[in-house]
Amino acid sequence: MGPEEIVVLVTGGSGLVGQGIKSIIEDERQLDPNTQKEQWIFCGSKDADLRNKTETEALFEKYKPTHVIHLAAMVGGLFHNMAHNLDFFRDNMSINDNVLYASYKYKVKKVVSCLSTCIFPDKVTYPIDETMVHNGPPHTSNYGYSYAKRMIDILNRGYHDQHGCKFTSVIPCNVFGPHDNFSLTSSHVIPALIRRMDDAMNNGDSTFSVWGSGTPLRQFIYSLDIAKLFVWTLRHYDSIEPLILSVDEEDEVSISKAAEAIKKAHGFTGEIIYDTSKADGQYKKTASNKKLRLLYRDFTFTPFEQAIHETVTWFKENREHVRL
Ligand code: NAP
Ligand code: GDP
Repeated sequence: MGPEEIVVLVTGGSGLVGQGIKSIIEDERQLDPNTQKEQWIFCGSKDADLRNKTETEALFEKYKPTHVIHLAAMVGGLFHNMAHNLDFFRDNMSINDNVLYASYKYKVKKVVSCLSTCIFPDKVTYPIDETMVHNGPPHTSNYGYSYAKRMIDILNRGYHDQHGCKFTSVIPCNVFGPHDNFSLTSSHVIPALIRRMDDAMNNGDSTFSVWGSGTPLRQFIYSLDIAKLFVWTLRHYDSIEPLILSVDEEDEVSISKAAEAIKKAHGFTGEIIYDTSKADGQYKKTASNKKLRLLYRDFTFTPFEQAIHETVTWFKENREHVRL
């Protein structure tokens, strides 16, 4: 980014990833007062319903951002996606069209939007890389979310080809950490297991049920790590081609291993059982971070068990205030 005035608008700034970025920026400011020259604005749905074009443009008119990190989306775990594919498609199509059009209209210099490794084709060769986004239908469980997310890449290419805009996207693997959505109905697996195990311990249960077989594999990234990578992307990544932001392939873990790590962090002494009447979703979506590793060689990811421990501790300390 250049020396001129910089105003970064973070849509979805009240969520898991947005709050992670906020925390990284606050830490930076403690260490280096020079970062004060960037003004960061974190917006949630209370500031503007981004499904609405007029509200979206009013937000851009108010803050006149020079840069945008676009995180806002209808987001949810496997079971929420399975039940709401139409809503995921329509809401996210509207949000993305409005935010990118407003970014064009208000002459934003750079936008970093957010895809996800779960939008890749279901039938694919592994490891998945950035060239494969549009290579076949996504998994049937989350086609609404997946197709809407894929269209961000189409919009980015269109705005670049027709108007010369620098609108790019990143592709995170599964994220978890403080400020996640811990609801019983719409959460992803890690916050779901953290919350449900806390409930089980409060009830004095001797068994704990993990949904599905526990065998699916996932790459999980800590929200504070993905936050650092978003900030780095905004400042240093200058291509409109998507960039996978993921932990290494060898750090992929099974759902059962994740459940065991949560059990250890919670100090739960009961037995974990698997409810195979519930869906497993995609077996795996192993993504390569080779491109990231070439561009940002020395990035260190927080070890999985440490990140789980910190998240469980945060949840216990903040249970009264979190999204349940
Ligand atoms: P999150 O915690 O659920 O946060 C979603 C954010 O979007 C919130 O700030 C929410 O605002 C905002 N939002 C939702 N609907 C909106 C609307 N109609 N108008 C304005 N704002 C709206 O989700 P997250 O996990 O941080 O996700 C951030 C981005 O990362 C998303 O684009 C998601 O697709 C992507 N991603 C997430 C994961 C993951 O595992 N979590 C993995 C890959 C990619 P309020 O809370 O104020 O309503
Ligand atoms: P995905 O990575 O996009 O599939 O979404 P999730 O974060 O929801 O992870 C889904 C995987 O975790 C599936 O294999 C589920 O069977 C498994 N899982 C186990 N228990 C739970 C739970 O309580 N909630 C959720 N969302 N998934 C669970």
